[in-house]
Amino acid sequence: MFESIVRIFGSDLPSLPRASLTRREQLWLLDARDHDPLLRTRRAGMVAARARLLAGLFLALTPVWMLVEYLTLPRSLWLAVGIARLGIIVPFLAMLWALRARARHRRVVIIALFALFAVPAVFYVWTMKILGAGSGTGVAQAVVATHTFFPLLLVAGLGLFPLTVTESLALSLPIFLARGWVLWQVLAPGNVYALLGALWFLLLVAAAGALAAGSQLALLIALLRQSIRDPLTGAFSRASGEELLALETTIAQRGDKPFALAFIDLDRFKDVNDRHGHDAGDRVLAAAAASIAGSLRTTDALLRWGGEEFVVLMPNTDCVQAMIGLERLRVRGFGLRPDGQRQTASIGVAERLADGRVDAAKLVELADRRMYEAKRAGRDRLIGCRPPAGDRQPRS
Ligand code: GH3
Ligand code: MG
Ligand code: MG
Repeated sequence: MFESIVRIFGSDLPSLPRASLTRREQLWLLDARDHDPLLRTRRAGMVAARARLLAGLFLALTPVWMLVEYLTLPRSLWLAVGIARLGIIVPFLAMLWALRARARHRRVVIIALFALFAVPAVFYVWTMKILGAGSGTGVAQAVVATHTFFPLLLVAGLGLFPLTVTESLALSLPIFLARGWVLWQVLAPGNVYALLGALWFLLLVAAAGALAAGSQLALLIALLRQSIRDPLTGAFSRASGEELLALETTIAQRGDKPFALAFIDLDRFKDVNDRHGHDAGDRVLAAAAASIAGSLRTTDALLRWGGEEFVVLMPNTDCVQAMIGLERLRVRGFGLRPDGQRQTASIGVAERLADGRVDAAKLVELADRRMYEAKRAGRDRLIGCRPPAGDRQPRS
């Protein structure tokens, strides 16, 4: 059922090949903790831009609403609501400042998004305390009504963001609490059913908002995959791979963590093309990528660096661990060539701590150089980083 919902709400675009989500991607719709780093950064950028737009809009509309309320509400009420409005301006300005494009961090985006929903929820409780639900006459009544329905507007606003189910729930919670509290003051204890009815209606609008948010996320995941992956092998394409490499290097540098990188070049691949044709070559290439991908951990990433050259990024993996895993992969092989022979590869490995805390470019260069050493030494082998003193791991 979950799958059919996913299919209906946005990700199954006929114009895009393989647009429906894989099982792992479907889980990404529920919870963001497991999102891959490129999705994280792109989504954070999108959420930040939209949150800024909404905060900016709210700030721009504040004087307009104050004017409307000045013209319609009794002066004392106008003043009290005006103070509440000014109270909301400060956090919203802080939000605009915190979400400015440069100094932006993913955690800041999450906090700002939560504030974008929680601050108006507080504002709603505050103003309803001042105005009282349904009070006033004539135009003033209409103005008060807009405040009454404010929570509906807020939960509908979820649909403007690409959000997981967990996030939609977390963002709706303060709005439900605020609405529940206000209704409790007005309706309870005499009219619990009216309270439940009003909350039920809010829940329906929130569900529609959350579905829209989930479908945005599904679309983002599918489109991102199309744009960052190589269609033949399913590996990250060169451009997105370099972006990922820069991201992972920054994370490794920040925590001074190990980070291994392997350069894999298939052996005598030109022969496959020459003898069996380009299509057969493509199939061997796809099978080789599948066997590499099959031996990686979920945090590792496979990049197609060039024609038959792959790079594997292994965050939090030291030299020894990387060498053991890659040697296992080498022994298992890279699929079969059309004539039934094993497809082999030459592999060069570099690791940031073992190789002297080098940057991303140097890490690639070292691994590439070692891959060529492996070729010169006879192919079908692994040449790696020197483990730091203490570990006695052979160099090849
Ligand atoms: P070595 O063991 O020295 O690496 O020999 P090699 O033949 O693998 O090396 P070389 O770099 O000379 O040849 C790589 C070949 O890969 C050249 C090209 O025809 C082929 N190739 C690159 N991209 C693709 C592709 O997308 N599909 C197919 N079928 N072949 C490709
Ligand atoms: Mg090559
Ligand atoms: Mg080759």
